[in-house]
Amino acid sequence: MKEDNVYRCEIEKFNKMSQEWWNKNGSMKALHEINTLRLEWVLSVCSSIKNRDILDVGCGGGIFSESLSVLGANVTGIDLAEDLIKIANYHRSRNLLDINYITISAEELARSEKEKYDVVVCMEMLEHVPEPVSIIESCSLLVKDGGTVLFSTINRNLKSFLFSIIGAEYLLKLLPIGTHNYKLFIKPSELINYSRLFRLELIDLIGLSYNPINGKFSLSNNVDINYFISFRKNILI
Ligand code: SAH
Repeated sequence: MKEDNVYRCEIEKFNKMSQEWWNKNGSMKALHEINTLRLEWVLSVCSSIKNRDILDVGCGGGIFSESLSVLGANVTGIDLAEDLIKIANYHRSRNLLDINYITISAEELARSEKEKYDVVVCMEMLEHVPEPVSIIESCSLLVKDGGTVLFSTINRNLKSFLFSIIGAEYLLKLLPIGTHNYKLFIKPSELINYSRLFRLELIDLIGLSYNPINGKFSLSNNVDINYFISFRKNILI
């Protein structure tokens, strides 16, 4: 595992977005719009999440953590952006939800909470860190044997560069300019190979597509740009 696996400038960038986080029409609009789809996907992979211990790695201001909690999961959310953890706590208490938010890295938590969680989710975060492999390793350490680890991230190819940076940031303004760095995008094949190193066996890979005509996202078979991927932690692989 890598010590200090973080780009401080990324954390500063996210901290600055904290006041906008829960504004459904603000700069985090896209995260709000895909939230129901990712929840649908998690439920299709995990069936029920009621009373399951779920860790949300890179939880930000808590958009996904809250939806998991509303469905009855025992949620812990971790992030290194302190302002986002503050916003997440404020929003959770207003909604009377019981979620445990901590400002800590996945690597550090993995030292003290080995095999504690039934499910680990890590959404839209791997493409913001220097060493995604270290996050994958930590997620594997944190999940129980037989548990599920789910990631969402962005593929790396010409199409994903054109659509998720030029299209989404500059033309459609779905995301603030500078949100993503092409070099940090990850191909599904890379993610699958890294995960196998840590006993994570592929369950499901599905794409997330955006229709610029009606402005709607949907789950699809096309994994060229955004994709969701899930793994089961096996005792032996
Ligand atoms: N998972 C959330 C937020 C995605 S935005 C959601 O999908 O709704 C990416 C998040 O990753 C930000 O909150 C950012 O602060 C966090 N992040 C970036 N680098 C990180 C690191 N090294 N450790 C923990 N969180 C990190």
